[in-house]
Amino acid sequence: MSKYTKEDIIRMLDENDVKFIRLQFTDIFGTPKNVAITDRQIRRALENECMFDGSSIEGFVRIEESDMYLHPDLDTFMLYPWHTEHGHIARLICNVCLPGGVEFPGDPRYILRKTLREAADMGYTFNVGPECEFFLFNMDDNGYPTTTTFDRAGYFDLGPGDVGEQARREICMNLEEMGFEIETSHHECAMAQHEIDFRYAEALTSADNIVTFKMVVKSIASQHGLWATFMPKPIYGQAGSGLHVNMSLFRDGKNSFYDPSKENGLSDVALHFIAGIMKHIKGITALCNPLVNSYKRLVPGYEAPCSIAWTVSNRSSLIRVPAARGNGTRVELRSPDPACNPYLVFAALLAAGLEGIRTRLPAPEAITQNIFDMPQEERVARGIEDLPADLHEALCELKQDEFLCEVLGDHIIDKYVEAKEQEWRRFAEEVTQWEIREYLSKF
Ligand code: GLU
Ligand code: MG
Repeated sequence: MSKYTKEDIIRMLDENDVKFIRLQFTDIFGTPKNVAITDRQIRRALENECMFDGSSIEGFVRIEESDMYLHPDLDTFMLYPWHTEHGHIARLICNVCLPGGVEFPGDPRYILRKTLREAADMGYTFNVGPECEFFLFNMDDNGYPTTTTFDRAGYFDLGPGDVGEQARREICMNLEEMGFEIETSHHECAMAQHEIDFRYAEALTSADNIVTFKMVVKSIASQHGLWATFMPKPIYGQAGSGLHVNMSLFRDGKNSFYDPSKENGLSDVALHFIAGIMKHIKGITALCNPLVNSYKRLVPGYEAPCSIAWTVSNRSSLIRVPAARGNGTRVELRSPDPACNPYLVFAALLAAGLEGIRTRLPAPEAITQNIFDMPQEERVARGIEDLPADLHEALCELKQDEFLCEVLGDHIIDKYVEAKEQEWRRFAEEVTQWEIREYLSKF
């Protein structure tokens, strides 16, 4: 059942003096896009009559078939907290459709909705709680981002070393005004690195929230003269930014991952779900870690995973089951970074987990030791494989994984892989400062 009707939307626009409405969606990489309309156009928008040129959006369509329609999801109505001289701005997140109302297979939100329908057919609701890390850096005199900071604070520190603290506080207040429930926020390990955690939600809302969250963080940071970046590893030798994904499946109001009669309180469903994700994680990595730079984060020593293993405790693992039990029981995947497209990542994880449940896939043994300290021979002997080492390897894995290709569909797979392979080639051809330092004088 929908939360809002069309009449509710019109009433809320009126009550809140809204003059502009952003009709939002994302491209296949999760980059937010919008068509802005004035309040006079709202009826047309609510009748799904607003069109845009899809050929201008990366990964969408060719120029010959470029008319696309925006179908607003009424439940995503939200007011931006910024009041302009022309009143408030509101947003509606839209599903992208082809003429005739057919859902567009290149819309990442559609891929997630399709997978959520499969979960619903099995009786499950998929909940996701993200933990998003990011950096707040100085800008140069021209307003361009740098990787410099005056911040000298560390994990959980308080100001004055934490120059981002005020910006972070304001980000939290703005998000709360927009209806987010902020659970915690803190300074992370690296200089200028922060984390803000908001409450879990059903996966579609959670993915919408991540896109909104990143936009708000960037806007408020810039009001403080800071540049917010979700680049996974901006500084060599410092921790990178993760987007840990906490997942649970609910059925009839109960957490299906919890079974007090089983070892560690984990149900068979939880173990099969973990097994399904582990089976497909190499291909999923191309989605969770979509940039050349993503793989500079997935190295030992920075609490980001490198190997495919699960555990009930230690943070060196790819998958961790945090201590909470009962309805709080969840599976935390630690590899995703905040450059990912959350719609595609959640769809792929859910599909892989459901396949694990359907096929009753057994989970490998849980690893209790710190994997960063484990010699390679021991990892091999225990069947612990590595995550793909770079974007190229991850893309090869994705292309070979027929199951994932089917979940994402031909359109997304072809466009995503093509664009990312080009990105990889551009990087591979580059002569980097590292090579100059390492080789110029030696050879
Ligand atoms: N920054 C770490 C990462 O790249 C995670 C630190 C933490 O456990 O919160 O995933
Ligand atoms: Mg963290």
